[in-house]
Amino acid sequence: MNDSINLKDYIREIPDFPKPGILFRDITPLLAEPAAFQAVIDRLTDYYRDKQITAILAAEARGFIFAAPLALALGARFIPIRKPGKLPFETRAFHYELEYGSDSLEMHTDSIHSDDRVVIVDDLLATGGTISACIELARHSNAEIVGCAFLIELAFLNGREKMNGCDVFSLIHYD
Ligand code: AMP
Repeated sequence: MNDSINLKDYIREIPDFPKPGILFRDITPLLAEPAAFQAVIDRLTDYYRDKQITAILAAEARGFIFAAPLALALGARFIPIRKPGKLPFETRAFHYELEYGSDSLEMHTDSIHSDDRVVIVDDLLATGGTISACIELARHSNAEIVGCAFLIELAFLNGREKMNGCDVFSLIHYD
């Protein structure tokens, strides 16, 4: 039923945000349209349904928006990856470069295990720096990284090349 929804129609482009030269892809119109938001979760769920996924990892903040409902739809655990100093238990950290700036991310050391089959979710793949950091954090646990899922892929930035062979599934592409 929601197959007819063109998700790109719900992405707003904001020039020069958060700094000159960046064309920001604003997902808030999509989040404000329940049918479009539902279509995103349904399409991601369809793709991973038969892949025995046990955990969904996502970096704050926009990754959480799609990862939490996907985790529930798949009956998988939701594992938050956060900016430094936010997680209360013992953490592992990884530093990475962004399209605009640099940062580091942390994950609880007890959150995933070697028998997990994980999917890493973010709203947007740009240079791949953020998702690479998440992949590195997940690799420490020896979990099976089944794939990385995005609402949006900025294909012209070649972020896929940083995935080291990891399966990439994205719903909206900009070439
Ligand atoms: P990257 O690490 O370069 O792949 O950047 C991905 C992260 O930065 C995502 O979590 C996005 O939320 C954010 N991001 C990077 N570029 C953009 C953009 N042009 N529009 C919106 N968000 C972006």
